[in-house]
Amino acid sequence: MTKTPFRKIDGKEIRWTDATGVVHIVEGADVHSDVRLLWTLCLRDVPANTVWLLEPGDAHEVCAICQQRASLPPEASNAADSIPRPSSAAMGAAPPEPAAVPQSGGRPLSSKENGV
Ligand SMILES: [Zn+2]
Repeated sequence: MTKTPFRKIDGKEIRWTDATGVVHIVEGADVHSDVRLLWTLCLRDVPANTVWLLEPGDAHEVCAICQQRASLPPEASNAADSIPRPSSAAMGAAPPEPAAVPQSGGRPLSSKENGV
């Protein structure tokens, strides 16, 4: 797979506010011509239609893990894709719009490792 992670759309950094009001830094990748995956730097899945773009000069306090990983290049944090993601089970809430995650088609994430 040759997806290239990005952290900006139209030159603006991507942010996501979770249910508790905490702002996260979002990284994304176009894994398919019409499939864009988005996740936070702390490895939470992000529904594509819930992110927002950080205006230049604007600043928001972000989650500590995202803040820490923001100093790493996208290539480095992308390696985290290979570790089991605890968020989906721990959150207890399924994303309202799972259409952006091609579970049946491609296999973007190594969810199999959970059962090994
Ligand atoms: Zn975060």
